Amino acid sequence: MLKTSENTLDPANWTSFRQQGHDMLDGMFDYLEQLREQPVWQSLSTEQREVFQKPLSTQASDLTEVYTNFMETIVPYAVGNTHPGFMGWVHGGGTPVGMLAEMLAAGLNANVGGRDQAPIELEKQLLRWVISLFSFPETASGLFVTGTSMANFISVLVARTACLGKAIRKQGLGNSEQQLVAYTSSSAHISIAQAMDMAGIGSDALRLIPTNENYQMDMIALAQAISADKKAGLTPFFIAATVGSVDVGAIDPLSAIADLASLENLWFHVDGAYGALAILAPELAPRLQGIERADSIAFDFHKWGQVPYDAGFILVRNGDYQLDTFASPASYLSREARGLSAGSPWPCDLGPDLSRGFRALKTWFTLKVYGQEKLGQVIANTCVLAQILKQRIEQHPQLELLAPVELNIVCFRYRCENPNPINAEIVIALQESGIVAPSTTTLHGQFAIRAAIFNHRTTVSDIDALVEATVSFGKGLIVSG
Ligand SMILES: *Cc1c(COP(=O)(O)O)cnc(C)c1O
Repeated sequence: MLKTSENTLDPANWTSFRQQGHDMLDGMFDYLEQLREQPVWQSLSTEQREVFQKPLSTQASDLTEVYTNFMETIVPYAVGNTHPGFMGWVHGGGTPVGMLAEMLAAGLNANVGGRDQAPIELEKQLLRWVISLFSFPETASGLFVTGTSMANFISVLVARTACLGKAIRKQGLGNSEQQLVAYTSSSAHISIAQAMDMAGIGSDALRLIPTNENYQMDMIALAQAISADKKAGLTPFFIAATVGSVDVGAIDPLSAIADLASLENLWFHVDGAYGALAILAPELAPRLQGIERADSIAFDFHKWGQVPYDAGFILVRNGDYQLDTFASPASYLSREARGLSAGSPWPCDLGPDLSRGFRALKTWFTLKVYGQEKLGQVIANTCVLAQILKQRIEQHPQLELLAPVELNIVCFRYRCENPNPINAEIVIALQESGIVAPSTTTLHGQFAIRAAIFNHRTTVSDIDALVEATVSFGKGLIVSG
């Protein structure tokens, strides 16, 4: 017989639960405090993977036992982006403050899709801060999303509505006489092409404009592509500029793109996934000049902003277009002037998600507790570390720089015969050593070791460790090869 009073998921004994909770919190503080003593990354053995094959049990397990499992089987085998030696992909390091804020958000368990509640007021406050950072008008709209991939997708959809009108949502692109085409550079992130694909426009309709020697979009080629498409009867509608390209950290010529977009009446989008937050650092912000003219900006707080995953953001200059793209009336989502259903429009009117977590809270805590100035210093510091690494490479006879260092990403290689396979081996050896974890890319057919410095915990000693280990593995491979 079910006893209704016993069917709650709250603990029967809050006192012992409280102690377990404090132990878990201490466990994660210990983990963060002692990161440096652990390898950046280690691979799971076959037995360690088999742990995850077990079927779900129908019976309850003890919280402490499940937590111990987590600490033993998961924590040591994560990607390692919290670690100071992580220089792999464009990953933020997270912070202890962000971790605490995530816990608070989970306790509150707010569904920030809509309704009259303070969490939405907080998200609106963050929108106002973002508006002020990028000198956007007060009428701009914005939304927390998973990440820049989603934010880029939203920007393509909003630009489509701005170009073809709201009716396109009902009619569909198949019934439109106009064939939309978009532009981005050949160094742009793949999520732009994916956004075109998901929007039903097709990635073939995205022109990949060649880049100059600094990996920036070539403006002459861009203007020519637009004019050729217009001659062919197509409808150019969207240009995506990049601030901080994934490969080398390049920044497209924003003001020139803004001029051309305004001349041709195209939507000017900025994929500033990581680079847009350079606006927080006074010494870097001038390089972003022109971003304030964008029609939309996509960026992540979870990369350079160090907010725990996930915390992407889309900012749209003309908020009406964003509303026109997503607002959908439904009887169970009716709005009122008072009561819980007040406060329309809601976040669910500005993007595809209805139920949404409280991403704004960890971002608010991060910005408030560390402060804009400090976060800017952390960002600028990773660029200083990148310059130090660049110098080390240029001074070392066995190392060769492969791309300009605009921000915080350094591409280089070990000099040797047959450099591509040897450098690929070096990167795997570095990752498996647990000392440092760079990633790889290919630039003009040259295989590059790519050190992307995002972690606020990274110091000069980690840069030196990368240089020393690269040279030592390189030598070893040449001798054994
Ligand atoms: C990381 C990145 C993306 C994708 O962002 P997610 O948050 O991973 O979805 C898009 N563009 C650029 C330039 C990036 O660095």
